[in-house]
Amino acid sequence: MMKTSDGVVIVRENVCRDVVNDRDAYVAVEGVFAAMAAGDAVNFPVVREVIGHADALYGFKSGFDRAGMALGVKSGGYWPQNMANSGVSNHQSSVFLFDPDTGCLQAIIGGNYLTAVRTAAAAAVSISHLARPDASILGIMGAGHQSVFQLRAALQQRQFSKILGWNRSVDALPRLAKLADEYAIPFEAVTPDAMTQADVIITITSSHQPLLMADHVSPGTHLVCMGTDTKGKQEIDPALFSIGTSFTDEVAQSVTIGEAQHAIATGLINEAAIVPIGRVINKDHAGRTSDDEITIFDGTGVGLQDLALASVVMRRAVEAGSATTVSF
Ligand code: NAD
Repeated sequence: MMKTSDGVVIVRENVCRDVVNDRDAYVAVEGVFAAMAAGDAVNFPVVREVIGHADALYGFKSGFDRAGMALGVKSGGYWPQNMANSGVSNHQSSVFLFDPDTGCLQAIIGGNYLTAVRTAAAAAVSISHLARPDASILGIMGAGHQSVFQLRAALQQRQFSKILGWNRSVDALPRLAKLADEYAIPFEAVTPDAMTQADVIITITSSHQPLLMADHVSPGTHLVCMGTDTKGKQEIDPALFSIGTSFTDEVAQSVTIGEAQHAIATGLINEAAIVPIGRVINKDHAGRTSDDEITIFDGTGVGLQDLALASVVMRRAVEAGSATTVSF
């Protein structure tokens, strides 16, 4: 572990890409979900506020992973005019790590790439643990910034032989088709009703109304709901929660800001029906129990995912000599 006396490690956004890959993110995220379910890691309450300037939404997610000894905060949010005004991404975040023994600042790490890969890793962990082993058709709804990361991470979990893609505007679908081509997997642009063919369906949009309805989903499908991370967003028919088995990264977020918020609000399910995926990883819950079962992963995005991966970045960047260390 980095010592406080070593100074503060700064890892720039572009260095993060060089020092951690999808597999690193998978291992970090699976480990921290397991630690959360075992009671070894805790997310602290999330703050997310409209700041009244630049139409920005700003907040922070923090926590402490005693198993991985990661303490810190990811701070940032959404600045909708960034790309148009200054050519930088509308999503901006940075991770700050602190020495759990002293509270001293340990590292400052670019959080944009980390957010994308840790989010895709959560989806991948769910596919690995909950999709049918023979899943062969992958559906994806949404073709924005996160979608390419999602698709790439998902493709590493099963032998998919076909990809079905839907987006509100078909103009964005070629980015998914291009990635499918790199993996030599056929890609088809479809309407939501064609998702009945899919064995795994990822939703990664900013929608505020259901896009995937119950009759678009066949028995045995694994749903990976990743877009809903805020109160009011919604991607799937809440009725799916009453016919499927629900899993999540964190129950407290799932019922308030995750996809399950709507099924909870309308009384279709109660909180006790939602299983932390860490319990499946820890073999404390069976996960999928039949080939006909519909499983739902409500991936809301927890700060501990960011901290776990940021810790790996910090170590790797120092080892590679690509971090800047300053006394503080
Ligand atoms: P983006 O702005 O790049 O893309 C948005 C996507 O949503 C596009 O495919 C767009 O067509 C679609 N969309 C927007 N409004 C829609 C509507 N009304 N109906 C149907 N489709 C609509 O965003 P992104 O960075 O790709 O993020 C996608 C979503 O994932 C966002 O809601 C974001 O907040 C969420 N997200 C979740 C996590 C997590 O951990 N769960 C992490 C990062 C981002």
